[in-house]
Amino acid sequence: MTLARRRFDALIIGAGGAGLNAALQLANANLRVAVVSKVFPTRSHTVAAQGGVNAALANVFEDNWHWHMFDTVKGSDYLGDQDAIEFMCREAIPTVYELEHNGVPFSRLDDGKIYQRAFGGQSQNFGGAQAARTCAAADRTGHAILHTLYQQNIRARTHFFDEYFGIDLIRDEEGAILGALTLEIETGEPLLIEAKTTLLATGGGGQVFRTTSNAHINTGDGMAMALRAGVPLMDMEFFQFHPTGIAGRGMLITEGVRGEGGYLINKDGERFMERYAPNAKDLASRDVVSRAIVTEVKEGRGCGPNADHVLLKVDHLGEDIIAKRLPGIRESSKIFAGVDPAVEPIPVFPTAHYMMGGIPTDRLGHVVIPSSDGSEEIVPGLFAAGECACVSVHGANRLGGNSLLDILVFGRAAGQQIINHLKENPEHRAMDESSVEQAMSRLSRWEETGEGIPVRELRDEFRKVMEDHAGVFRTDEIMSEGVEKVKEVREKLKDVRLGDQSKIFNTARIEALELENLIDIGMAIVLSALERKESRGAHSRPDYTERDDENWMKHSVYFKEGDRLDYKPVQTKPLTVETFPPKPRVY
Ligand SMILES: Cc1cc2nc3c(=O)[nH]c(=O)nc-3n(C[C@H](O)[C@H](O)[C@H](O)COP(=O)(O)OP(=O)(O)OC[C@H]3O[C@@H](n4cnc5c(N)ncnc54)[C@H](O)[C@@H]3O)c2cc1C
Repeated sequence: MTLARRRFDALIIGAGGAGLNAALQLANANLRVAVVSKVFPTRSHTVAAQGGVNAALANVFEDNWHWHMFDTVKGSDYLGDQDAIEFMCREAIPTVYELEHNGVPFSRLDDGKIYQRAFGGQSQNFGGAQAARTCAAADRTGHAILHTLYQQNIRARTHFFDEYFGIDLIRDEEGAILGALTLEIETGEPLLIEAKTTLLATGGGGQVFRTTSNAHINTGDGMAMALRAGVPLMDMEFFQFHPTGIAGRGMLITEGVRGEGGYLINKDGERFMERYAPNAKDLASRDVVSRAIVTEVKEGRGCGPNADHVLLKVDHLGEDIIAKRLPGIRESSKIFAGVDPAVEPIPVFPTAHYMMGGIPTDRLGHVVIPSSDGSEEIVPGLFAAGECACVSVHGANRLGGNSLLDILVFGRAAGQQIINHLKENPEHRAMDESSVEQAMSRLSRWEETGEGIPVRELRDEFRKVMEDHAGVFRTDEIMSEGVEKVKEVREKLKDVRLGDQSKIFNTARIEALELENLIDIGMAIVLSALERKESRGAHSRPDYTERDDENWMKHSVYFKEGDRLDYKPVQTKPLTVETFPPKPRVY
């Protein structure tokens, strides 16, 4: 079979906020850029972001980027790299203005400035001022941003490959990345895209857990592609459980609800967050609130017939605020929980939401292989940005409103750096046909016929294992068992067969490829989690309850080959300001 091939200056896999903001830089610089997305671009998960994007614009209260930086460092439980955090918080301000100028319809204050709301983990103590740092377009901020970026890319003539699935990276013997093998979902035909640079912007992988706020497409494909190309994943044990998923379903109720004045109650009607976080209460950072909810339920103060959730009270805000600021969550509550929040409280429980870890990159978007001495080796021709990447700005726990910021700032930075890289490396490298064959064999693997396990069955089993063994509270026993079970699932994958071998729109084949990816990153999560013997941010261990700065101020680095773990020290030195030294994290 002859394999169809196309050539571009730059290939971007992923059309969420990160991929599209990078593409826009490149297309505006008149480079030939291809954006590949397994769904139509505006269906990327960025579209679902509700609450908003952080920038210290100080439109409501006094604020500045240095405070934003402090909150982010503290929120990360001191595991975030302070140079990258400083860069992000400073860039936040021009980034939001750029969005505004590109046409994002932000909500407005009475004086016409961009509306900003309070979100979890934002300081309330500087000079007595309260922070309201999250810029919002009602509760549909991601929708507004993604559509604007897509339209700007159409104007700039970015070349889109819609509904193409990225299978694997192609690399030569020196480890340089030459592009990727993709699959046109409609026809089932493979297409090789050769490129001088490749950017992974494939988003998160919340689908590793059974209950998640993430879309079905969030299967961590780019992270698994990186693993298979010899690139490690960093800080994978840090997975954020958002405190307010719709109980039993997982769909998200934005933190913006609490930012607007909503609060949590247990079965006695008690506002229990006052006990766990006396100052910030319901707006403590997410890990803190999620643990509080799970503890309330465990100790018998849960609501409902099974006492398995708590309630989020909103009705006291009044019809007006709900209609103006929270129309989307009202709709989701009605559809998925059968309650109108203007009348009744919403049943909520933590839901798997966000990956703090991912493909290690520097501030400019280069993918790097970190070493235990703190040095980094750049992978030639490969870049990553967005939720699939780990810069690291979120450390052990991400603050709400900082992910949209991360994808935009580092998507843009990667785009700019790719432009520089292409100036210095104007030629395509020679294609490595053995690497192409290897990628093709991943595809032909799914042509094997005969009796076997259906994809769905193994996928359900795997996601339950992850939920039971890598959830909010983690002990040695629970996680050791988890590692064994994920290994078993990985073995069983060899026996999975597709019932349907047809080519045209064969979604079963796509699901099989996604399942392989899920299992690869699931292993990274459980192994990194088992080895980290401390509690920090979202990683909470009843058998090691304290944060251990002496031994664990370091990033975990997982390599697929041999399931090997390494570590890299945290960068505690910012770019221009003084270090924020680690302190106990209280809210
Ligand atoms: C419900 C919800 C609400 C959120 N609300 C907020 C919020 O208010 N504020 C905030 O800061 N953050 C929020 N977040 C987090 C934030 O939205 C995400 O982290 C961010 O949008 C991720 O953007 P991204 O560009 O990295 O990836 P995504 O937007 O997830 O896009 C990934 C892209 O990669 C493509 N892709 C993936 N795999 C492949 C493949 N194999 N082949 C081809 N294409 C592929 C997809 O098609 C898609 O285009 C929320 C997240 C969720 C789930």
